[in-house]
Amino acid sequence: MSVDLSPIRPFLDELKAGRPLAVLTGAGVSAESGLPTFRGADGLWDGNRPEDLATPEAFARDPVKVWRFYEWRREKVRAAKPNAAHVALATLEAMLPQMTLITQNVDELHRAAGSRNPIELHGSIMRDRCSGCGVVTPEPGAPFPELPPLCRRCGARLRPDVVWFGEMLPERAWRDAEDAALSSGVFLVVGTSAVVAPASSLGLIAARAGSRVFEINPEATPIAPLAEGSFRTSASEVLPEIVRALESS
Ligand code: NAD
Ligand code: ZN
Repeated sequence: MSVDLSPIRPFLDELKAGRPLAVLTGAGVSAESGLPTFRGADGLWDGNRPEDLATPEAFARDPVKVWRFYEWRREKVRAAKPNAAHVALATLEAMLPQMTLITQNVDELHRAAGSRNPIELHGSIMRDRCSGCGVVTPEPGAPFPELPPLCRRCGARLRPDVVWFGEMLPERAWRDAEDAALSSGVFLVVGTSAVVAPASSLGLIAARAGSRVFEINPEATPIAPLAEGSFRTSASEVLPEIVRALESS
């Protein structure tokens, strides 16, 4: 069954006219790969809210608990496969030379689907970083025998190489994302509740610079008032339709 693309018809027209596209994705894009979002009911872990686990303070207070949360998430990510939304975004990237993909996701599923250079604003759960010497290593592929894991070089605690609440974004990734938003003609926000700053401000930055903003999310978000067209359905449903519409034009 085909989806009615009329709410984002101007979006398709802009792409056909060759306007640069920036896409910002969030946890909703990976929801259909079986990875819980933070705001959904299944985002709780052991009764804890992610905001109480994914912070430097929580890690200092109880590193074992924080690591158990991440080991649980890693198991899910290891078992997850890209869904039709990731694949459609990788296909779009191959079709549109002027597309930049910016993600808040830490699951590397965009890369797994074939996106070549996603800007990962919040790092990757599939890497470890030493909280002492800063060395970054791939996650070992199986749970650590003992928690918290320690750095082989300096003995300090390892942590997942992600950005926690209250931490700065990687400087380079943020600069690239901001540049992409500023120079975009079209800005598409997919599957993010747009409440976690500063990633949430990219839509506004793009809109102020004259870019046309569109959104795909089954629920209304703070981006909606900025958006010219909002698609209230799942990303895996509408993104492949967008690819088909461009292919057949
Ligand atoms: P969020 O949990 O705050 O919001 C998810 C959004 O996705 C919601 O607005 C929801 O309506 C929407 N959504 C749910 N199913 C959808 C679907 N099928 N198609 C389209 N949209 C759908 O997530 P967020 O905005 O990305 O921000 C929270 C933080 O959570 C980010 O920093 C991110 O790093 C982290 N996070 C990442 C993952 C991941 O990497 N898979 C998972 C959970 C949280
Ligand atoms: Zn170290």
